[in-house]
Amino acid sequence: MKLRNLLKYTLVLAMAAVVRPSQAQDLMARQAPIDVRLRAVDSVSLHRLLKAESMEQPSGDLYQGWTNEFVNYGQALPAEYRIDLRNFHMPTDSRVVNSHYGYRPRFHRYHYGTDIKGYMGDTIRAAFDGKVRVVKYNAKGFGKYVLIRHPNGLETIYGHMSKQLAVENQLVKAGDPIGLVGSTGRSTGPHLHFETRLLGEKIDPEKLFCFEAGDVRGDFYVFRRNGHSQLMAAHDVQNLPEVPAVEMQQTKAEESRVYQQQKMASRAQNRSRMYKVRQGDTLSKIARQHGTTVERLCKLNHISRTATLRLGQILKCS
Ligand SMILES: [Zn+2]
Repeated sequence: MKLRNLLKYTLVLAMAAVVRPSQAQDLMARQAPIDVRLRAVDSVSLHRLLKAESMEQPSGDLYQGWTNEFVNYGQALPAEYRIDLRNFHMPTDSRVVNSHYGYRPRFHRYHYGTDIKGYMGDTIRAAFDGKVRVVKYNAKGFGKYVLIRHPNGLETIYGHMSKQLAVENQLVKAGDPIGLVGSTGRSTGPHLHFETRLLGEKIDPEKLFCFEAGDVRGDFYVFRRNGHSQLMAAHDVQNLPEVPAVEMQQTKAEESRVYQQQKMASRAQNRSRMYKVRQGDTLSKIARQHGTTVERLCKLNHISRTATLRLGQILKCS
């Protein structure tokens, strides 16, 4: 069980034991080994453990599972998620933006990142601490690229490299070299194509960072699914506890929700990959995104090739 969840769960159990004596005995029995573990670590080593764990599986609370195979993540977005930007490091020495995020009428396609000017062989650096998830080559797109998952919930992508220096599952610190600028893939000249994503949702990097200044636009970026995302300064959020106080007085429903979440997380670790159907999805699109075939999808989900997909329908992808 993950340490952070374990702590949360211990609080839940402790509260439950106090407020519901009828079940206390059973709960106390389950609590005992946790207590022993908690007592065994002082706060400093606890902090270190939490940090080590968060690097071993960055944003493990947010992402179900870990794969080196695919860029895309078919998970539903939370209504709100606070992204800590304070550890940012410029991915390049250059601070010149060549091309912005958004629709490119000339090419009739979207550009989902920021292009930063660079010269062949310039060093590309990790934007935050994190763990390298994907190191691949895509001739028609990113070229040689690296994708890193960060403890703040973001995943960053660095495209068109001439050389990848980072390897899969490598732990990196903000500013560590991860590749060299190039022009591989769909590119017309050496530059860095830089993307920021939250659970696969693309976010305009220039909403988070001012590349010309080489700095963040705010200490935090509060992502909201309803589109009302906002930047926040640290002093506005520093009084908000990491675990909201209300969670410490959890109801039975909440307790079971936490338990269900843990069950789901461990299921995800068993490599069962589920996908929730979104607007515009087709079987072949989903198959492509998950590196599988329509045949395999149909077989896994006991559906025919011509089956109509419903919005929100859950499909097994592996
Ligand atoms: Zn680009």
